Amino acid sequence: VRFHDLNLPDDVLHAVAELGYEYCSPIQAKTLPFSLQGRDITGKAQTGTGKTAAFLVSIITDLIDFPLDVALPNGTPRALILAPTRELVMQIAKDAVALSRFTDLNVVSILGGMDFEKQREQLIGERIDILVATPGRLIDFIGRGNVNLRDVEVLVLDEADRMLSMGFIPDVRRIIRQTPRTGDRQTLLFSATYSGDILALAEQWTQDPVHVAI
Ligand code: AMP
Repeated sequence: VRFHDLNLPDDVLHAVAELGYEYCSPIQAKTLPFSLQGRDITGKAQTGTGKTAAFLVSIITDLIDFPLDVALPNGTPRALILAPTRELVMQIAKDAVALSRFTDLNVVSILGGMDFEKQREQLIGERIDILVATPGRLIDFIGRGNVNLRDVEVLVLDEADRMLSMGFIPDVRRIIRQTPRTGDRQTLLFSATYSGDILALAEQWTQDPVHVAI
């Protein structure tokens, strides 16, 4: 499947071409037709398979194709991506910036270990369309009222199995409780492995998901 064969906005196709992507990777070819229709996804894919672009192309397309007629207040993202590590958050945010460079979407990342004040200023100082975060630091900002998740349309849980093994699930659960309920948001969950625990979480957090595995 070529990216050109999917019904993507020109600004997304342009960004994809600039990155040198022509053909969808298998996880992208399996995910995008369903995620672009708004379906929930449970994806089994490792790092290196192109899963990041799979969910980012879907999110960016959705946000462009369905603009809001009223501007949301600052600190109110339309898409939230949770990932277990700083490195992964930074990589996802970098890819999100690259894939949205021909749009006016704003990408903000928050991660532990970075200057708290600076991140707070970023959060309250500009419109956020796509927020990429590690769970712990996001909880801090939610607690301080700097982030409001009530308008999240798309939630991505990346490397869910690592979030589980690193003990982040209680934090993730608290975060998800702040988002619209299952069915009122789209949820894309990716995990390299599907243990019973991950299956149970996927069951709670998604509605009628399409399972894609590579
Ligand atoms: P990921 O699995 O998301 O970490 O992506 C692995 C690598 O594949 C990244 O360096 C991406 O830039 C690259 N990549 C993602 N999608 C494609 C594609 N469709 N064609 C070529 N490279 C890609």
